[in-house]
Amino acid sequence: MMTEDAVPRILARPDHSVSRDGLSPSAIKVMYRLHRSGYTSFLVGGAVRDLLLGGRPKDFDIATNAQPQEIRRLFRNSRIIGRRFRLVHVMFRGEIVEVATFRASPEPPEGPDDWEEAEAEAAEADADPDRTPAPTRVDRSVYGTPAEDALRRDFTINGLFYNIADFSVIDYVGGLDDIKARRVRTIGEPEQRFREDPVRMLRALEYGARLDFEIERRTREAIAECRGEISEASPARLSYELFETLRSGESATIYSAWRGAGLFDRAFPDVAGRTDEDVKVLKEVDRAAARGARLDDSTLIGAFYLFPFYREFAELTGDGRKLDNVEMLRRVAVMLEPAATNLRLSNHTLHLLMQGLFTLTKMNRAPDRGRKVLKLARQEYFRVAWALFQLAGAAGLVPTDALQGWSAAVLRLDKTNDKAGSEEGRSKPKRRRRPRRRRRR
Ligand code: ATP
Ligand code: MG
Repeated sequence: MMTEDAVPRILARPDHSVSRDGLSPSAIKVMYRLHRSGYTSFLVGGAVRDLLLGGRPKDFDIATNAQPQEIRRLFRNSRIIGRRFRLVHVMFRGEIVEVATFRASPEPPEGPDDWEEAEAEAAEADADPDRTPAPTRVDRSVYGTPAEDALRRDFTINGLFYNIADFSVIDYVGGLDDIKARRVRTIGEPEQRFREDPVRMLRALEYGARLDFEIERRTREAIAECRGEISEASPARLSYELFETLRSGESATIYSAWRGAGLFDRAFPDVAGRTDEDVKVLKEVDRAAARGARLDDSTLIGAFYLFPFYREFAELTGDGRKLDNVEMLRRVAVMLEPAATNLRLSNHTLHLLMQGLFTLTKMNRAPDRGRKVLKLARQEYFRVAWALFQLAGAAGLVPTDALQGWSAAVLRLDKTNDKAGSEEGRSKPKRRRRPRRRRRR
């Protein structure tokens, strides 16, 4: 392991493209306050990578040699978070800046499982200003030097620092070369890094697909070697990666990469269907994301079941038979059950998903009466049904007349609702935003 003596490559301000204009005002504020208080303050991770590539970062993570308690004291609007109390969230209107103390250990990250617990603990701490986290829980040995903090990160392109003190970019890991060559490479020995945390394999391919980078040869070979280990990863973290990907607007490409590497089937055996069918629907999911639609969890998972669903439907209604609703519902339930368990779907999500899918049986013909539309549209699950119906329609699974008929009916409904004004447009998918969960580490 490299130590403090490690000599980084440093690019001075004129020699790189990261500028303060690319940072959010909140991130700048946090960095400067740390700096003025005598601490080291680096922008780290994805933000540096994206700025070097000329893109716009999703969020800003900061690393410092200040300890969590010290950071907490510098910012009134902050709280210590994470199972081991090693992170501080500085809260601004509409933005959270995450500040972490330099860390040495490459231990597996805390998963979203820990998030709820951390939230509860933070709420408790907020309610009681005198309460400080039990000192026994803060393990000082985990803190490290900037070099160590760079080395414990996953990929070289994610291991760069931007130093607010002199606006330089600091590279302990060869990330600058890899960004230039557009390649994803693990920091350190790839097999070891993947065994340490198998979710990194999914992440490697996500970056490859999202940034259009190639996966460096040894990293690629290690994925082939270690792919079996993905089934050991925590279900909560896998589920998190899946939903993030489904919302990324690049899900079809990432899915294909995961599947091609033999990771998808191992990580998500329950939702894996026929590759061509999955890709077809995911392309529509990505189109919806590009239009700014925010599909909820039930719809996103439902996407994987559209083709199988319509196969069951066709089977039960063959030869002009009337659909046996009970049998259809039973089959939908059987179909969804394993994924619901393994992806840790909430009961509510599962309920919406089941009802949403089942409702598609009622939408396979154009509605002949407005009342039918109204009645259905009043149900909470209709927004899921409607979203799934549009995906299915775009994927060629719905008869044209049904697609046109329902589209016209829902449009009419929306207009009426808009006119009615006061009564909320029931048929419009409600934008129920769950707070963005940040991966803890
Ligand atoms: P995104 O644009 O998806 O947010 P990101 O690179 O910022 O990309 P995050 O998941 O937000 O990714 O993680 C922030 C940083 O934490 C990463 O850039 C990386 O340095 C480090 N990191 C994240 N996950 C891991 C992991 N599993 N193992 C080691 N380091 C990790
Ligand atoms: Mg990030």
